[in-house]
Amino acid sequence: LAATDLIEPHRICVCVRKRPLNKQEIIKKEIDVVSVPGRGSVLVHEPKQKVDLTKYLENQVFHFDYSFDETTTNDLVYKFTAKPLVKSIFEGCMATCFAYGQTGSGKTHTMGGDFTGKQQNSAKGVYALAAQDVFAYLNHRRYANLDLSAFVSFFEIYNGKVYDLLNKKSKLRVLEDDRQQVQVVGLEEVYVTTEEDVIKMIQTGSASRTSGQTSANANSSRSHAILQIVLRRNDRATTLHGKFSLVDLAGNERGTDVSSNDRSTLVETAEINRSLLALKECIRSLGKNSDHIPFRMSTLTKVLRDSFIGEKSRTCMISMVSPGMASCEYTMNTLRYADRVKEL
Ligand code: ADP
Ligand code: MG
Repeated sequence: LAATDLIEPHRICVCVRKRPLNKQEIIKKEIDVVSVPGRGSVLVHEPKQKVDLTKYLENQVFHFDYSFDETTTNDLVYKFTAKPLVKSIFEGCMATCFAYGQTGSGKTHTMGGDFTGKQQNSAKGVYALAAQDVFAYLNHRRYANLDLSAFVSFFEIYNGKVYDLLNKKSKLRVLEDDRQQVQVVGLEEVYVTTEEDVIKMIQTGSASRTSGQTSANANSSRSHAILQIVLRRNDRATTLHGKFSLVDLAGNERGTDVSSNDRSTLVETAEINRSLLALKECIRSLGKNSDHIPFRMSTLTKVLRDSFIGEKSRTCMISMVSPGMASCEYTMNTLRYADRVKEL
């Protein structure tokens, strides 16, 4: 992908990012079954079996706005996905960027980057890159007369409950008023003036995220993490000008192969599936300009309600896929979901 491949931004952008095979997969001689032949296309060589038990690979092709192969850096992914959204919030938009995919497919790598040690530019994730641009725009002549300030919130949704990651994980209530405005009551909103301020918030918040045990990954994240960068006017009412929600979604693996009969795991999985289904329906309604947005289906879509309504909403979904044959079923699920999101 080159800068000239950048397409005119539209309200819903759906892309796919493939991560490289990791060390364990290479040791296990895992076969790479995903290829990215050109801008926007993804090919999966899906293992199949005939009735007579002979095995073969069937090619499945998908098309998206952009597809990123395993050599793509966070920086480039950012340029094509979240960067146009950062600009949009200065023009008064409600923007959302989702990282979607199986546990271990690269959601946190893409959004959070590598937080071990001092952040190098190459290790920066979408959070830090977006923050960097927010302050660049804030200090830019073009937007100076808007007289704006930036604030950050960071919270997670686990089992349908909201926890404030910037305030000792206190449990917050989600309320809807009679004008259908949704509010997370008491959510901490921190005034920030530099990229470092934002990174510090994310580091503190990320450390307290909820993780659980699944067969796919012992440290998998079973919660959705939402970082919001809010622009407010410096007037007496601190009027909302624009908002960017960056969402590191819970792993989308289905409960089908979970060997555990653990009730709490089953409840967790059911809740995750429900919220991801709701999310898909809400983005589809946005794409169809439908009056009915089913945002009440889940806590996730409730708190993001602003982002699904009106001319001023912008959405980008980055779907992450693992390349290995062992993950093929999950990869196909992820690609089918992403395909449905953009299908109008
Ligand atoms: P998820 O958040 O989807 O569960 P992670 O972001 O934690 O997955 O990624 C799992 C592992 O794979 C991490 O060690 C991460 O550093 C690595 N990884 C993910 N995506 C990439 C990539 N594009 N390039 C290199 N390593 C990656
Ligand atoms: Mg993660």
